[in-house]
Amino acid sequence: MRWEHDVRLATLARYRIGGPADRLARPQNLDELRDLFGDLGEAPYEVLGTGANILISEAGLRAPVLVLGGEFGGLEVEDGAIRAGAATKLPALAGAARKSARVGFHFLEAVPGTVGGGLRMNAGARNEWLWDRVEWVDAVTPSGELVRLTPEEAQPSYRRVSVPENWVFVAARFETKEGDPGAIREAHFNFRERKVNDQVYDLPSVGSTWKNPESPHPSAWQIVDEVGMRGARSGGAQIAERHANFIVNLGDAMAEDVLDLMIETRKRAHVHFGLWLEPEIRFWGFEADRLAEVGAV
Ligand SMILES: Cc1cc2nc3c(=O)[nH]c(=O)nc-3n(C[C@H](O)[C@H](O)[C@H](O)COP(=O)(O)OP(=O)(O)OC[C@H]3O[C@@H](n4cnc5c(N)ncnc54)[C@H](O)[C@@H]3O)c2cc1C
Repeated sequence: MRWEHDVRLATLARYRIGGPADRLARPQNLDELRDLFGDLGEAPYEVLGTGANILISEAGLRAPVLVLGGEFGGLEVEDGAIRAGAATKLPALAGAARKSARVGFHFLEAVPGTVGGGLRMNAGARNEWLWDRVEWVDAVTPSGELVRLTPEEAQPSYRRVSVPENWVFVAARFETKEGDPGAIREAHFNFRERKVNDQVYDLPSVGSTWKNPESPHPSAWQIVDEVGMRGARSGGAQIAERHANFIVNLGDAMAEDVLDLMIETRKRAHVHFGLWLEPEIRFWGFEADRLAEVGAV
């Protein structure tokens, strides 16, 4: 398996921000992934989907990066289930469910990213999450062992799952029920239309910046709005006018621009609401003190 060197992560990540990975490999199947683990020994590594939830620093990453491809991109519709490889795109999974009239996948419409990233983040919206549909997930441990996990074992919750961070999800089987094709098409169409109208798709972003705090606090977007940060700009990054929980890259944003907006928002939210916002997005390649300022550690 070949390692590529000095790969600019901005070209692979949705935000179009991020410096080089010293080493990056694109395993196409389980054997190649296991070979890489053999190569890595005990060394830490990162897995990149499409970076639709990651802010990567300009310094980039010294840890090797794995990007799944090839056989990990499979998608099969079966009786009562859909099987997907971890590199399959979430909108492709939503599309397969819609076309085969399976209920309950509309909430993945217009959610960028891969099944692997979606499982790690427990992607979803409005109380419907990817792990709600899972029958089992296959993950590979750093020693190359293939482990099959049920939702009961993985204990998914809001934007997290209790599976070690260095296990790589490689495939999943989603339980499905057939429904009325017209009603399913409409549910998908309505969800997509509302999401695309309310959120930001014309500029690079990584979706919701902050997790929603627990009730009785308002939603994260309302907090950002109320502390006067909607539309705020730092360098090439801006808190979107259309959706205050999105920070967009106007074209030449640096990672530090995004971080500055987040840190200022977080300080103001603490003053006004007495709470510390918690980031939904993940951070690669930052110093511990910057991560602490943004609430990521
Ligand atoms: C416009 C927009 C709208 C969005 N809307 C939503 C939404 O409605 N709901 C929602 O939940 N999110 C939303 N997001 C965020 C994003 O789409 C999800 O978090 C998605 O699951 C990220 O997938 P990814 O493959 O890009 O993961 P990445 O961002 O590449 O990675 C996210 C995390 O998953 C890990 N990871 C990736 N692949 C694997 C794997 N195979 N095995 C183990 N770990 C892995 C990474 O190491 C990282 O820690 C939105 C983002 C954008 C830009």
